[in-house]
Amino acid sequence: MTLAAHTVSATPLAADLRDSIYVGGRWVIGAGDAIESIDPATGTVFATLHGATVADVDTAVRHGLAIAHRSGWASMLPHERAAILHRIGNAIELNSDRISALQTLDTGKTLSETRALAISAANTFRYMAASLETMDGSLTTPRGPWLTMSTHNPMGVIGAITPWNSPIASDAQKIAPALAAGNAVVAKPPVWAPWVTLLLARLCDDAGLPAGLLSVLPGPGRTVGEALVRHPDVAKVTFTGGTATGRHLAHVAADKLMPITLELGGKSPTIVFDDADVEHALQGVLYGIFSSSGQSCIAGSRIFVQRSLFERFVEQLTDRARELHVGPGTDPRTHVAPMITLAHRNSVAHMVDAAVAAGARVLCGGSVPTDAYLANGAYYPPTILTDVVNSDAICQEEIFGPVAVVLPFDDELDLLEQANDSVYGLACGIWTQDYRRALRIANAIHAGTVWVNTYKQFSISTPFTGLGDSGLGTEKGRDAVRQYSNQKSIYLDVSDSPLPWGRN
Ligand code: NAD
Repeated sequence: MTLAAHTVSATPLAADLRDSIYVGGRWVIGAGDAIESIDPATGTVFATLHGATVADVDTAVRHGLAIAHRSGWASMLPHERAAILHRIGNAIELNSDRISALQTLDTGKTLSETRALAISAANTFRYMAASLETMDGSLTTPRGPWLTMSTHNPMGVIGAITPWNSPIASDAQKIAPALAAGNAVVAKPPVWAPWVTLLLARLCDDAGLPAGLLSVLPGPGRTVGEALVRHPDVAKVTFTGGTATGRHLAHVAADKLMPITLELGGKSPTIVFDDADVEHALQGVLYGIFSSSGQSCIAGSRIFVQRSLFERFVEQLTDRARELHVGPGTDPRTHVAPMITLAHRNSVAHMVDAAVAAGARVLCGGSVPTDAYLANGAYYPPTILTDVVNSDAICQEEIFGPVAVVLPFDDELDLLEQANDSVYGLACGIWTQDYRRALRIANAIHAGTVWVNTYKQFSISTPFTGLGDSGLGTEKGRDAVRQYSNQKSIYLDVSDSPLPWGRN
């Protein structure tokens, strides 16, 4: 078995990825609705993919369960499973140019971002392999005449449902630990960006993952996704997406008494104190909201600036935002690439228009670009709004676009009241040179991840959690593999003494 470089060709959709989905170890033309894949930079249809059906969900789950046992995957020694996961990581890295080109075509993101996501996915597979190999079960302290131990066993079939905004990275974050734990996985990628997950399945095949252990079923959430969550043989679902969908799926999971991990939306505060290194803060704040065109759960979309610095900082921030280059993801000059679809772009524009009608003032951006060069793409410029209060809809609702609000604060108390007044609790950025203050705020803020004097930096070894409406449960980190295992206790009797109802 050799690792193939599925190299970049004129189109990253080479012959191995033509209209086919991966169901229970077979590449087939889907019987579901045709999905038109549209390049967000130009509005042109570049491929058509027939999606999965509800029947495919059943086939994939049944095969996955059978193959996990028949192939020996579920009972394989950890270091043997780890060897295959390492090979998958290496295959992703070997193919990172193609993955990056494919994902940029499908999502519009810049090539630099999609390349980073591909490398991060490769590292995720290797990290999960390493943590699997080094994880111990435990002998527990005996409280009787037994040898007592706690072991971890595969759960069976894991449903992995992902959004369109960072495909390869969110795939890896779920699929790698779920496979590591000895499970089969049925992945349901989003209709708007299915291709990279299909390519990942090819790479898993090349790396020696038993065929059928991973199925990839692109299709609508309300049919294919829903069937996956409801399937009686799916033991756990790991979901990343919007809060409304996540809340609904939590109810479905509760009915089945099935564990579910939910990584959901956000409206994260970025806080600039008046002692901050202003240049450093400007760079970080700008990147925190406008990279990925703001289509990021952790986008720092509420910018709080201490009142004494407010005017100066906001003026400089606005000047910098105007200088950001809006263009296709394939142009190396581009900072702000197109949004995923025209419909999504229009919904972002609509939210900004509504905020302006309610009294917000536009400092930059604020309307769809009119340049001929951007005419057919789903572009929206970096937008900063002021004259808002934190209770306004534009400060409370997730926009998922390149739109920030700027709000002043007086002191720590005022800041915490405003920043924590949100249903979300995903991330936070703090810019100050006073590390005591940074730690005070980091501890008091309602967020699963806090960055101090940096933003949007990630490490697979560090757990990721959303609080409140931002999620349920944790992903990443060394224990991620355990999130996909059932814990089991075993008592071995080591005495000759009679049992309670024994006769001698
Ligand atoms: P979405 O909730 O519309 O869809 C996410 C996925 O769920 C898609 O694959 C979709 O097809 C599927 N789905 C939809 N309805 C379903 C149902 N009834 N049953 C099963 N599956 C269903 O979200 P989206 O618009 O694709 O993604 C954007 C959202 O994702 C934003 O809110 C963003 O903040 C969030 N997100 C969160 C994180 C995080 O880690 N917290 C990361 C990225 C994105």
